[in-house]
Amino acid sequence: MTSLDGGDLDLLNPVRTADPPGDAPFTSTGRLPSRPTVTGLLRDAHATYATLDDGTVADYIPSLAAADPGRFGISVCGVDGTSFSIGDAQDAFSIQSVSKAFTFALVCGAIGHTTVREAVGVNNTGLAFDSVMALELNGGSPRNPMVNAGALVMISLVPGDSAAAKWQFLQEGMSRFAGRRLLLDVEVYESEAATNHRNRALAALLRSYGHMSYDPLLTTDIYTRQCSLLVSARDLAVMGATLADGGVNPLTHERVVDPSVCRDTLAVMAASGLYQRSGDWLYEVGLPGKSGVSGGIVTVAPGKGGLAAYSPRLDAAGTSIRGQHAIRSLSRSLGLDLFASAPVAGPAASGTPSERTT
Ligand code: GLU
Repeated sequence: MTSLDGGDLDLLNPVRTADPPGDAPFTSTGRLPSRPTVTGLLRDAHATYATLDDGTVADYIPSLAAADPGRFGISVCGVDGTSFSIGDAQDAFSIQSVSKAFTFALVCGAIGHTTVREAVGVNNTGLAFDSVMALELNGGSPRNPMVNAGALVMISLVPGDSAAAKWQFLQEGMSRFAGRRLLLDVEVYESEAATNHRNRALAALLRSYGHMSYDPLLTTDIYTRQCSLLVSARDLAVMGATLADGGVNPLTHERVVDPSVCRDTLAVMAASGLYQRSGDWLYEVGLPGKSGVSGGIVTVAPGKGGLAAYSPRLDAAGTSIRGQHAIRSLSRSLGLDLFASAPVAGPAASGTPSERTT
């Protein structure tokens, strides 16, 4: 993403934030805290991180440059359908790369994860999401479905014998994840379609390597439409909660994908969802996530729910700065971090393992 990080070799620059407020247990066990607690924690996180003014709005897609950098919303949706939002959580913005996680899930559900894995792979590239070098270094393999090259191959695998049929599959599938019909932002679509030379080049390169089974230009066009679907932070929380709920939308109760597809999707998000900073993200936040250059982030706490944020100021890798700070804090205070387990309760917990079994 040349306009944001100056090229492919963006060096890692982890973001560190202060520890979250309060004395929350910071474990992944159990359920979401009570409604008043969640509401209070969301309010605190929003107030704390709304003061951050670092980063810039993406401008390599011209219409994204018009986003108001001050917007900031956070939303949580539990697997029981209860939802909590603060700030600009109902603002509509184009989903951009966040869509890649859901396309992966929908395509795995339709054609099976083995075919998808063979075609795309599940390893991080360590390079920017639109890196041409990553493709060249890996013999034309996109490596994973969360970078543009992998997302383009995913589009070529979408069921349907025409571009219209493929698009219908994606729009309907994404809408089932959100629990409402998602519409195209025509302005964003036309703006990106007029300027997406790099993605067209990636699709053509994939074709030259024999990794693109569908027409490269039509594939790029469908991908651009997918990125232009309008969502809110609240929609992303519901979409994340559907992945957290074994593939059943907690609002509509419709099964969107199977539990095994959710599991595979979360694994890929954990490895590659935050671009070349996915390792930093997993280390700091402890949740599978996916971010996009319009400022949206979705994270998933399996069995608990989805947590999403929207704020358009981005770091050098293309992820919302306020969003990632807020989610890091809330992952801890809401007890979502997958790697933070509680000790076994009771007196035996203080003994050695052998003492505890006697
Ligand atoms: N449509 C954007 C692109 O292809 C998505 C990038 C992103 O959100 O990371 O560049």
